[in-house]
Amino acid sequence: MPDHDFRSETTTDQTDRVIGCLVGLAVGDALGAPLEFSSRPQVRSRYPHGLRDLVESTLWAKGEYTDDTQMALLIAESLLEKKAFVPSDIAKRFRVWAETAKDVGIQTRAVVNMVGYTQDPESCSSRYYADHPHSSAGNGALMRCAPVALFCLDSSEKLVETSRASARLTHYDPKAQSSCVILNAWIRAAIRNGIRDARSDALALLKPIEHSPWQRLQRIETCKNDDIASTGYTVHTLEAAAWSFLTTDSYEEAVIRAANLGNDADTVAAVCGALAGAYYGHVAIPERWRTQLFARSSDPGDCFGAGRGRNERFSLILINLKYMCVVMRSGVGSRALGGAGLVFTEMTCLSPEGRITLGCAGIYKPEHLLAWKRIVEFVHSASHEGYVVIGITRLT
Ligand SMILES: [Mg+2]
Repeated sequence: MPDHDFRSETTTDQTDRVIGCLVGLAVGDALGAPLEFSSRPQVRSRYPHGLRDLVESTLWAKGEYTDDTQMALLIAESLLEKKAFVPSDIAKRFRVWAETAKDVGIQTRAVVNMVGYTQDPESCSSRYYADHPHSSAGNGALMRCAPVALFCLDSSEKLVETSRASARLTHYDPKAQSSCVILNAWIRAAIRNGIRDARSDALALLKPIEHSPWQRLQRIETCKNDDIASTGYTVHTLEAAAWSFLTTDSYEEAVIRAANLGNDADTVAAVCGALAGAYYGHVAIPERWRTQLFARSSDPGDCFGAGRGRNERFSLILINLKYMCVVMRSGVGSRALGGAGLVFTEMTCLSPEGRITLGCAGIYKPEHLLAWKRIVEFVHSASHEGYVVIGITRLT
């Protein structure tokens, strides 16, 4: 995967795949959530033809995404606001979120609540790993790492380094770190070059000592359903997600296959969804699923309150990701990224249908529209191409 200047080659298709990655993660998460903790025989007995749509469960509302997406959004928000990977900033967000989150992984909760975590998260996760050397390779880092890939599309070196660092926020185990590198390198190749199978290039980014757990991943599509373990072990999770993606030919079938594996179903489907969304793009994610995504008022990604099913902050993150792509493409640089911060803090309204349509008047408050116009005018003055991309693309 040679590095080129991402600005010179970003296309509308690539932008759609960036959005597809994050929406794909959330939809997969929401689809798998009701099946978490169900064994595969239990899933088969409850859904003989497979669970094929978003449904509610005792813990989750229909379409509600879980900690996988919530933590990914916390990372995405931090990256967009800081315009850099700042571990202490993300650690603060994790700590606040964990205080009220409905579902937090055991290891994540333990590390996030350690003394000194918000100042130096890595030393806390390192200590946890030293105390639990054989039981700290859970998938809690893998499930949330995709925004790092979106932030590092311009550099493979930066992607490897930042993916590792994002794992070490809670999961120091080398297997957790390498799983994030593989997934993010695969996502990057899918978005940049439309590559379906980037396993070899992704594995080549690992240190030689890290390769042994990943031998089976290289031929995972030859495995039978019963040979795939969908546990919370990060190697199993990435294998199961890759198997679901490589043995199907659409976003929809990939995440359905992943979710119906049961066990850690939401995370397997979330990881598969991020990868499949990055490859097939946002347009390939069924609209009925995109519009049914649901978040509670206290969760990252929503400000409207329980029952509305609107995802305002989630949509704003998507808008800003799209904006970041435009900035990369147009090459207007850091001044425009400052503008992205303005968008993030000032635009707070959606249409009654829950849609953000950038060219549609009436979806923003007047002052927000004014702020948005200033940004668009700035980008337009720097790059006609960038303006066109903003103007013609719609998000749901
Ligand atoms: Mg979850």
